[in-house]
Amino acid sequence: MTERLDGTVALVTGASSGIGAAAARELASLGASVALVARRKDRLDELAAEITAAGGTALAIEADVTEQAEAVAAVERTVAELGRLDTAVNNAGVMLLGPVLGAPTEEWDRMVRLNVQGLLYIAHAALPHLVSAADSEPRRVSDLVNISSVAGRRPTAFSGVYNLTKHGINAFSEALRQEITERHVRVSLVEPGAVDTELTDHLRPAVREVARQRFASVETLLATDIADAIAYVVTRPRRVAVNEILVRPTEQP
Ligand code: NDP
Repeated sequence: MTERLDGTVALVTGASSGIGAAAARELASLGASVALVARRKDRLDELAAEITAAGGTALAIEADVTEQAEAVAAVERTVAELGRLDTAVNNAGVMLLGPVLGAPTEEWDRMVRLNVQGLLYIAHAALPHLVSAADSEPRRVSDLVNISSVAGRRPTAFSGVYNLTKHGINAFSEALRQEITERHVRVSLVEPGAVDTELTDHLRPAVREVARQRFASVETLLATDIADAIAYVVTRPRRVAVNEILVRPTEQP
């Protein structure tokens, strides 16, 4: 049974494009008020206007979640302006593939700072509010959804540091789940395969071409396919915790 999210508040990081934007739309359509967090404020404003025009409630928050003060401020502003926090979707991430030998280590820093540290800062700031929400109506349960990847389950060549960050997310999520599940805070992992988003725009051109060729014959997922999985996780009845969902394109080996 799918439950509606009326009266609840969701925060989505990386809501300015791709999976985050689709997830925010989906959660808003289920009745949640949504806080949209990313750096490109113009994109967030556009999405907030779209959600509002459809009858929902959205708050655009410009923040770089790799800066702990900005991550904390984003969470606190959500609670101050929307009243509570029931669902946090830790989605912002970057994938900079390529060989380890001779890699520009600046790319490693960017992945570790966003995929790991940014996710941790949001989780840390959100948890006290998720615990409070889990004690209250309407749902008496709350959700921290961490967006990992197939790369968090299976390492592959030329993906070493991305694999490291996503495996780290998986390990952290399971450990935290065990700590907090008795408080009715559900910690879940959603692990997409290849999704058609802006993720590969950040690759160096030569690497982007290799990635493009690898998936040339695969019908990739749409961001809405992953938004569906996120919505499934957070609309389960209070007794049901979906710990992990791996969603690949059918043709992805
Ligand atoms: P996009 O590049 O479309 O979206 C990434 C989002 O992260 C953008 O909204 C971007 O917004 C935001 N972001 C980047 N840096 C920061 C920052 N410092 N602070 C706040 N927000 C930031 O990619 P996807 O939608 O595909 O990626 C979403 C998640 O899904 C990632 O964690 C990715 O690893 C994961 N994933 C994606 C797959 C795919 O094939 N697309 C496969 C498996 C996992 P802005 O630039 O405005 O800040």
